This record gives sequence, C-alpha cells and structure tokens, in this order.
Amino acid sequence: EISACLVGSEMCIRDRSYIHYDNIFTHRVYAQIIIRRNGLFMKGFAMLRIGEVGWIEKDRPVCGPNDAICRPLAIAICTSDVHTVWEGAVGERHNMILGHEGCAEVVEVGSEVKDFKPGDRVLVPAITPNWSSLEAQAGYAMHSGGMLAGWKFSNIKDGVFSEFFHVNDADGNLALMPEGMDIVDACMLSDMVPTGLHGAELADVQFGDTVLVIGIGPVGLMSVAGANLRGASRIIAVGTRPKCVEVAKLYGASDFISYKNGSIEKQALELTGGKGVDKVIIAGGTVDTFESAVASLKPGGKIGSVNYLGSGDYVKIPRVEWGVGMGHKQIQGGLMPGGRLRMEKLGSLVASGRLDVSPMATHVFDGWEHIPEALQLMKDKPAELIKPVVRLV
Ligand code: NDP
Ligand code: ZN
Repeated sequence: EISACLVGSEMCIRDRSYIHYDNIFTHRVYAQIIIRRNGLFMKGFAMLRIGEVGWIEKDRPVCGPNDAICRPLAIAICTSDVHTVWEGAVGERHNMILGHEGCAEVVEVGSEVKDFKPGDRVLVPAITPNWSSLEAQAGYAMHSGGMLAGWKFSNIKDGVFSEFFHVNDADGNLALMPEGMDIVDACMLSDMVPTGLHGAELADVQFGDTVLVIGIGPVGLMSVAGANLRGASRIIAVGTRPKCVEVAKLYGASDFISYKNGSIEKQALELTGGKGVDKVIIAGGTVDTFESAVASLKPGGKIGSVNYLGSGDYVKIPRVEWGVGMGHKQIQGGLMPGGRLRMEKLGSLVASGRLDVSPMATHVFDGWEHIPEALQLMKDKPAELIKPVVRLV
C-alpha cells in the first residue's frame, strides 16, 4: 500500500499541496510515512514561544556544499536552554528547535567537505563560527557575523534536539569523536568543557595562583578543573548545591564560600589573610557579582567571566576597590570559542584521562521522550543535579 502511494506523495512534496487527493486524511498519513522514509521531514523538541515548549515537525535541513547534516547520538540540556525558553534570553522565537549540546553521527556532507563522511561519529561544539569571516581572522571567531553570532544552534537556526541538524563549515567545526569515548562524556565537550576552561583562560590562571571561582554549576566546575589543570595552588569555590560542592572538591577546590552567608569578597579576603586572590572566574551570579569579584582581587589581578547576564542594565565596578581607577585589575567576559581544533584538543584532554567529565552527568536518560523531563530538571535544579543527558541510541 505504501509503495502504491509513492507517486502521489512525491507529487505532494513537489507542490506542497494535498488537493490532488480524494481522501485528505489517508493521504496525510501516507505522506508522512513516506516523507519520513525519504528523510525530508523530521521531529524536534522546540521552543514554541517564550515560556512554551513542545514537539514539532519540520523540514529536514538542507546540506550546503561546506555543511554537514548530523543525527544526534546523545544530547545534554544547558542552563542556556532554560534562559532561552523561560527568560527570553535570545528574544522571541517561534517553533525553534532547542539544544546546542550533543554528539552525533554524520549522515550527509556537502560536495566541498573533505575530512568528514557519512557514518563518522563527531564532537559538535555549541559555537560553530564561519571560519572565513573577518572576526575569525581577528581571533574572535565566536563573534563571526556579529556579536555572539558564532552561536547558531537554537539561536539563529534550529538546534540539536532534533532527528537531524545542520552544521555549517563542517571541516572547520566538527571533530572526530575519540575512539571509545562514551557518548555521555562526549556531550560535555560541546559547551561545559570549552566554556568552563575558557573562564580559566580569560582569567589567565598561572602556576601557583590563588583562584576564586564564583559559581560551581557545570560551567563553574569545569572552570575549577581548568584552574587546576593550569596549576593553581588554591581554588576557592562559591556555590551551595551539595552535589556541586562534592564534585568541585574532586576537581581541586580546596575552600568553599556560600554567597548566601554574606558578601563573597568579605569571605574571600578572610580566607586570604586580607590579601585577596590572584584571579577570579565568574560562572554564576548576576551583574552585581562583578563588584565582589573586583573587591576580592589583588592589584594586578584578572577576572574571566563566562556567565550570562540576563538582567540589569549595568555592571558596576567599585571605584575604591578598583584602585580608584589605577589598580591594574582586568575584566574579560567571553563566549566560548568553538571550532574543530579546540574540539580535537579538548577531546584529547578527556580521552587521555587527564580530565574526567563523567561526574558531571548526574542524570542520564534513554530515549527521545525524556527530553522534556530533562529540560524541566535543568529548570528546577534539584540539589543532586549537575547535568541531565539524554542518550538517543
Ligand atoms: P548553574 O545555574 O548550574 O550554576 C550557577 C552557579 O552560580 C551555582 O553554583 C550557583 O550556586 C551560583 N550562584 C547563583 N547565584 C549566585 C550569586 N548571587 N552569587 C554567586 N554565585 C551564585 O549554571 P551553569 O553552570 O549551567 O551555567 C553558568 C552560567 O554560564 C549560566 O549563566 C550560563 O547561561 C552561562 N553559560 C555561558 C556560556 C559561554 O559561552 N560564556 C556557555 C554556557 C553557559 P548554587 O550552588 O547555590 O546553585
Ligand atoms: Zn550550553
């Protein structure tokens, strides 16, 4: 029966009309079966509008000459997905498929793609710049095409919570998944590892530094790990969720501060005999957190921020603690760098065993139907949660 219907449904795909058929209902059912088999239609979990999510069906993305089409093997939920849906962080979006964290199998590549082929298992960065852009040539590929425009998934195009997703500049952005890597671990390489480690890069952590890490959700935990890998001698972590505190210790945090027990700077200065810390990484908090960060720093100290600032018009810098403008205290905030080279290097870091990301995935589900539940978990942030991951194979 299905093959008998093939001709009819192909007509339908071409002219996008159902009017050739006597029985519209029957036709729709057949058409969906056949379109799915031909891979032209796909299902995804989407932001329907601010504050509302649901399953939708869409056309499968088209593969350009430099692109790849991938199918996810596993996906992870990010705090940014929560900001996107419930806080309107990227503005209003209608029927936009969510998700920017996952690992995948390549199903199709464009004619110009040289280094990947269908069947390859790949790491996929959350940020997929256009590598020929001027911003990339200037060293800021994450802003290729405009401020933050390297962030494409679930921002300026459909994301990865979908049967198929599109990757621009495949040779520049994908990386082969290291042999034997667990697909749950591979999901941490999309965003948590590159972003958290970028915090340590932006703060310019050096051997022997005392580092204050503000926020120890999954991003901050990777900042703790990054500071440790770069040779910090002491890592003071700010956060309260018990599971995060436990894992922060594993990654090298030696002291803890609760932002709920008074000012962060007061506690940080107490812990350092009034001297302050060499570096601060900000991976949580608000616009007001910069005040604490500046006040916690020694003269000449550096702040690296990877936190998303969802509200407030200004970041305040305390005048006196900033050395009345002459304290040599630097502040840098950045979106994670994406791209293949970084994915390959960070993939090797995890594959070598030097960075164990497995404690991060506290909630692992099997099957597409668990995506809504996993997203809700990330919104609710129960005490035992770090990161929810959904395996799709
Ligand atoms: P979480 O919400 O899981 O963690 C936030 C951390 O900040 C927690 O440890 C929390 O403490 C702590 N915190 C909350 N309020 C304060 C406060 N007022 N002062 C100090 N600390 C506070 O977030 P994630 O780790 O998932 O993400 C962190 C941030 O990074 C998010 O804003 C996210 O959007 C952003 N991000 C940025 C990216 C980039 O490329 N720059 C990429 C991905 C994410 P507690 O233990 O009490 O909950
Ligand atoms: Zn993310």
